[in-house]
Order: sequence, then structure tokens, then C-alpha cells
Amino acid sequence: MNNHFDLIIVGAGMTGSSLALALAKQGLNLALVDRMALPCPASQSLPNSVVALNAQSRTWLQEQNSWPVRATAYQGMRVWDQQSLGLIEFGEPGSTLGHIVGNQDLLACQHQQLQGHKQIQIFDLCQIRHWRAAQGSQPAMLELDSGEQLQATLIVAADGKHSQLRQQAGIEIKQTDYQQQALTALVALERPHQQICHQAFTEQGPIAILPVDQGHHAALVWSQDLGLGRMQLTKEQQEAELNQAFGPQLGRISLQSPLQSTPLVAQHAKRYHHQGVLLLGDAAHSIHPLAGQGVNLGFADVRTLSQLLGQAKQAGCTLNDEQLLDRYQRQRQLDNALTLQLMTGFKQLFGSHNPYWRSVRSSGLNLVNQQGWLKTWFTGLAQGR
Ligand SMILES: Cc1cc2nc3c(=O)[nH]c(=O)nc-3n(C[C@H](O)[C@H](O)[C@H](O)COP(=O)(O)OP(=O)(O)OC[C@H]3O[C@@H](n4cnc5c(N)ncnc54)[C@H](O)[C@@H]3O)c2cc1C
Repeated sequence: MNNHFDLIIVGAGMTGSSLALALAKQGLNLALVDRMALPCPASQSLPNSVVALNAQSRTWLQEQNSWPVRATAYQGMRVWDQQSLGLIEFGEPGSTLGHIVGNQDLLACQHQQLQGHKQIQIFDLCQIRHWRAAQGSQPAMLELDSGEQLQATLIVAADGKHSQLRQQAGIEIKQTDYQQQALTALVALERPHQQICHQAFTEQGPIAILPVDQGHHAALVWSQDLGLGRMQLTKEQQEAELNQAFGPQLGRISLQSPLQSTPLVAQHAKRYHHQGVLLLGDAAHSIHPLAGQGVNLGFADVRTLSQLLGQAKQAGCTLNDEQLLDRYQRQRQLDNALTLQLMTGFKQLFGSHNPYWRSVRSSGLNLVNQQGWLKTWFTGLAQGR
């Protein structure tokens, strides 16, 4: 078996898989490594864990033939502040602001495209045992726990927010622990969601209800302060607290799957490459899910990187050229930093119990709601324009 590749990608999540498909199309030979079993199986039931994707991500995934059939278009957003009178509504019937896609549905589509691709060799159920940076004409080397040794000019770390490779390459991150967790589940609503995403900012954190069908089902993203102990409650107690926190807008909300908890941190790598390891997606940046931007930024990384590496390959340049990797960092780091700061600002503004900030956010939401041009600007932001 040939163990020498143009590029090794560690992590076959949404961003790593997408990069593999994009680069294989441009003729690069790739190794794709993941500790999970691939392919991710398709799910028969409605999703309990989702991402909201903007138009750019959708176009990109459609071009890669990995857009899930069960993507739910949403036509509007309704955001309000439970502690004040602030309310903002976006969108119009018939328009599409974005799509809600099940994580498993998307991964299953991506992995189906990866299977049998002659440019891509998959190493699943594999952990990294040892890693060595490229030196001069010597390629980088990745040793797997199976004992196999893979060689390539460049290694892409798409191994998520706890990236082992990022740590091993000595790339530092700036981190803000939100002291919050996101509880996610599939929920059924007494009243139809009407293809509108609902988000309530409550005293303990934002609650998002995201449509996953044409009627009464939605994915719940319930961000809340740590230490409230909701994971230990019975299902009935969890439902009671959810309904009390969210309010009556959608009638009674009932849990259709157990709550799953994910701790929330904001983090951003101080540099995007070092010693021939390059960061992609959540390995480079991870943000609060309140505006649904995390993997949209990740797909923007993928688009930039695949273009730069494809051009380098065509021009016969080496893929770990410092100037090339710097260009990727320049093109993506600022954009990601701005979004991260905006989300941290929103989180602080909407998390504050201070009466002054409560009145600021109430008037802010109402102002945006009344001003056509501001609303258009925010709508564009949500759509990824
Ligand atoms: C509650 C919640 C809601 C969200 N909502 C949205 C949203 O609405 N819109 C949006 O754009 N984003 C959203 N996000 C963010 C989005 O989920 C992430 O940005 C996205 O999943 C990151 O994809 P990734 O491929 O970069 O990393 P990951 O999904 O973390 O994938 C990493 C992959 O690497 C593998 N791996 C890890 N370590 C190793 C190792 N040592 N060796 C081998 N393999 C390894 C893992 O098995 C995995 O397959 C949300 C996040 C959360 C938590």
C-alpha cells in the first residue's frame, strides 16, 4: 500500500470531509484519518442535533453532491428578550434565510461521497500515536496506533475544538470559557413553527427552536449556565423547566429525545499553521452557537484553502510553502476573529442582568426591527452574504 500522500487530513467531520472532497476533485492524493468508524450511517429519524447553514455553505455542499435531502428551509427568524420588551423579526413568507440540517444527515451524505474515491484513502478507527514535522526535503510523518506510517508534505488538523494535533504542534489558543453548556434535543411543538427559527434570550441563556420538518418538530439548542443540574432531572422536570423558560409562544414543548450536553467555549488559534500542521474549522476557531455561525465559518475556511492548495498543485509549488500557508491565515483569521468577537459581545449583552444593558438590548432589538436598512443588513449577515 502506498503511504505517501500530497496531504493528510486528520478529522472526517464536516470540514475535514468537505476539504477532502474538494481537493480530490483537483487531483490531490489524500489520506483521511478519523478515530470514528466511517461512513457515518444515515439516520431514519428526525435529527436531534443540527446546524443552521447559510446560502454559501449550501451552494458549496451542493457542488460537492453532499447536500442532504432532508434539509429544512427556514423563512424567518423571531428573536426576543424575555427580560425586556425587545423583539426582532426577519424574513418574509416564501423567502429562504437558510437551512436547518441534521449533523448526522450531513455527515452521512459527505461520507457516502468519500467512499470509493480513488484519490482518497480512508483510515478510520485510528488514533494518532506519533507525529513528526516535515524537515527540509523530508516529508511530515504521522504514525497511527495500528502501526501504519503515513507521509505527506502537509498535515491538516480538522480534528475539532480539542485538536490533539494543534496541541502537539504547539499552536496556542486564546480561550474564553462561557461557563455554559448547550443542551440539545428533538422537540415536538403544540403549535406549528411555520418554518421560522425562534430564539428567546432568557435570564439563564438563549433557547433556540429550529424547524426540522414542515410542521411541529424542531431541534432545541438550550444554552445555559453551568451548575443548574438539568441533566440530572427527570424528563418531566426538564420539560417543565424548558416550558417555563421559553414561554407560551409555540404552545407546549415536549422532548422527543434525551437532552445531550456540550460545554461551550470560545477559542481562537493564535496562528493557523506551524511546523507543517495547518488548522481548519473548529480546530482553529470555536464560537457560541447562538447565531449558528461555527461551521459556516469552517466551510469558508475550506473554500479558501482548497482554492489556494489547488492553485499551488497546478503551479507545481510545494504545499507546505510558508507564504502559501500565511496567505490562508491572512484570508481567514480576521474574518473568524470578527465573528468570534461579535458572538462574545452578543453573549455578554444578552446574558447581562444589569438594568442598563437590559434597556440597551431592548431598544437595540426594537430599533433594528423598525429600520428597514438595518434589518436588511442583519438578514444578509444571517444568510452569509
Ligand atoms: C450546540 C451546537 C450548535 C451548533 N449550531 C451551529 C449552527 O447552527 N450553525 C453552524 O454553522 N455551526 C453550529 N455549530 C458549530 C458546528 O457544530 C461546528 O462548527 C462543526 O461541527 C465543526 O466541524 P469540524 O469538522 O471542524 O469539527 P468536528 O465536528 O469536531 O469534527 C472533528 C472530527 O475529528 C475527529 N477526531 C478528533 N480527534 C481526533 C484524533 N485525535 N484522531 C482522529 N480523529 C479525530 C472526530 O472524530 C471528528 O470526526 C454548533 C455547535 C454546537 C455545539
